[in-house]
Amino acid sequence: MNYKARLRALLAAIDQQKLDALLVTHLPNVRYLCGFTGSAGVLVVAKRGVRLFTDGRYTEQARKEVAIAAITISRQSPIPAAAEWLNKAFSPRPNIRVGIDGEHMAVSTHTRLAKLVRKRLRLVQAPALVEQARMIKDADEIDLLRRAANLGSSLFDIFLRRIRPGVRETEVAAAVELRARQKGAQGMSFETIVASGERSAMPHGTASQRPIPKRGFVVCDFGVILAGYCSDMTRTVYVGRPPAEARSLYQAVLDAQGAAVQAVRPGIVVAEVDRQARKVLQKAGLGRYFSHSTGHGVGLEIHEPPRVASGDTAVLKPGMVITIEPGAYVPGRWGVRIEDMVVVTERGCDVLTSTPKELIAI
Ligand code: ZN
Ligand code: ZN
Repeated sequence: MNYKARLRALLAAIDQQKLDALLVTHLPNVRYLCGFTGSAGVLVVAKRGVRLFTDGRYTEQARKEVAIAAITISRQSPIPAAAEWLNKAFSPRPNIRVGIDGEHMAVSTHTRLAKLVRKRLRLVQAPALVEQARMIKDADEIDLLRRAANLGSSLFDIFLRRIRPGVRETEVAAAVELRARQKGAQGMSFETIVASGERSAMPHGTASQRPIPKRGFVVCDFGVILAGYCSDMTRTVYVGRPPAEARSLYQAVLDAQGAAVQAVRPGIVVAEVDRQARKVLQKAGLGRYFSHSTGHGVGLEIHEPPRVASGDTAVLKPGMVITIEPGAYVPGRWGVRIEDMVVVTERGCDVLTSTPKELIAI
């Protein structure tokens, strides 16, 4: 990973915001900037130095993972250690502006920090500078996301083999998760969704102990974490012989998904991508059953900017990786969702999820 380039870009952004330092506390941001994967760490980024603060549990790991920053192993927690360093680093100057991330810092941490830093250090809420940078994936990241998406796609087979009437949803999820780990995943990027029968009408129906009924849709939404990067995909299958109504519901969602994928290209506003999917479902009379947004960014975190939603004004740029996942959910009856990961290219997009999307009856 090119941490040098990432830090250089961030330092320019910090300068532009007229900040003297940025206190990075959100762990995925810390990882993105210096490679540290531990569960306790704070990174201070300033022109006069980049320094990681962590504790004794991570002495070995920090030294192995982090080459780009100086490391302080603190006996206390990282926040007071970082405060102490800031106090010293900017010693005689007045009006030092230290940016903090208000989206992620707890009020209690902020209060504690404010007590620890000297008066002439002002804590200011900085814009989400690291998140903004993370939206555009570099070649290394796209490669990792592609590998994660491929591993995810390869697991769909397990769903097809395990989904049978009478089998519990959790058993299906367990088989998929075991295989993911066997193939090298660090874990799942979120709790696996296996939502069968009328549960398929719940967009976030995580696998329950309920046996899969004799007929109906099963929504399977799952993802793996591979080398820190998340995958995310959804396929919906039908148990039994799908009646015409089920086929047309499925087809409408598939068409909506295709229309949104078609719309993905650099320069387009995310709301327009969302509108393309929504338009197809509205035409099919299903508009009111599409109850969530069309997609989201994915990377070190399963949900990250940009949101692909109506009213959102973010503009797509090459290197962004987003999901396209429209769905239609008829309460008490059934639901369908189809989700792919796509990377925005110079001309359009590449679909990273390789699993076919035709309706499969089991
Ligand atoms: Zn998903
Ligand atoms: Zn998703």
